[in-house]
Amino acid sequence: MRLLARCPDCGVIMRLSLEDADKRKRCKYCGRLFKVPALEQMQKALERIGQAQSGVYVDEKGNVYG
Ligand SMILES: [Zn+2]
Repeated sequence: MRLLARCPDCGVIMRLSLEDADKRKRCKYCGRLFKVPALEQMQKALERIGQAQSGVYVDEKGNVYG
C-alpha cells in the first residue's frame, strides 16, 4: 500500500516513502514545500495502510484520509 500526499496548492499527488517522514518535499509541479509529518504523527496512517484499497493520504498536520 502507498503513502500519499496531495499538494495543498496545485493538488498533485506526491508519493511518499517512510524515509520522507519529518522532512520537506518540494512539489515538482508548483514548487511548494510540503512538510511530511513525523512518523509519530503518521501512526494512524500506518495503521490504516493495511486496510486501504489504494493508498493513504496524509497532510502536513498528520491528518489521515483513507
Ligand atoms: Zn503543487
